[in-house]
Amino acid sequence: FDIQAAPILSEMGMVKGIVLVLHDITELKKLEQVRKDFVANVSHELKTPVTSIKGFSETLLDGAMADPAYMEKFLTIIHKESERLQSLIQDLLELSKLEQHYFRLNWGRAELTKIVQDAVELLRPKAEAKEIALSLHAASSVEMDGDSERLKQVAINLISNAITYTPNHGEINVSVTQDHQSILFTVSDNGIGIESSELPRIFERFYRVDRARSRNSGGTGLGLAIVKHLVEAHNGKLSVESELGHGTTFTIHFMKDQMIDQEKQ
Ligand code: ADP
Repeated sequence: FDIQAAPILSEMGMVKGIVLVLHDITELKKLEQVRKDFVANVSHELKTPVTSIKGFSETLLDGAMADPAYMEKFLTIIHKESERLQSLIQDLLELSKLEQHYFRLNWGRAELTKIVQDAVELLRPKAEAKEIALSLHAASSVEMDGDSERLKQVAINLISNAITYTPNHGEINVSVTQDHQSILFTVSDNGIGIESSELPRIFERFYRVDRARSRNSGGTGLGLAIVKHLVEAHNGKLSVESELGHGTTFTIHFMKDQMIDQEKQ
């Protein structure tokens, strides 16, 4: 509690009583802790690639450059770590934008079938590299009110995760279906799955079930936090079902006519 006190004085200047104001600051403290954790996480995530880039470039400058094998090996690491930094910074900027009060979607008519098709084709090479069968079942011309670029980002993040967390030769099914008032978008994989105790936390910023696996695949730990924000900005519902060792399904449920709710955005 935060306590403030003030005396109540009589006309003669005598203290008649005291007013005590008690503020419950539990919520504020919690927010402050979340902010501190976030800053600590960001610092750690940024420091790791920078340390590596600095170390390997110094070793090269100190003489390792003379050996072409080292040169190639170290430059590859430096390049990979710079890409990590770049995606981390992009995701951080996106997330901080989404959390601003004045953030607005770029509303328009979004062709969801086309958007998801584009996302699947964009990620097909990544799936092929792991010989994963990536299939899409989409009803023709499903449309909704929304921000096409942002919806594409949602699809890319979910499909890209499905590929990352599915072993070679796995299977991923993406689907877009609709009835007269709602749209269902699902991404289902038969990959490593997520333990039920971990499920509620995967949408938190920087939360990863397996930090090393996420890092190695270029993950930032921010993808699902961004997806959640974007789905909610579209008044959609995001849910996940998973079984450890068997696979994971993310489902998004959108209402077809979002424009009605735009005022609230
Ligand atoms: P990351 O960049 O680490 O993938 P995300 O926010 O996209 O971050 O996901 C958070 C965590 O949720 C991941 O680190 C991973 O542990 C888990 N996860 C996400 N998608 C899947 C999936 N399809 N199958 C299994 N685990 C997943």
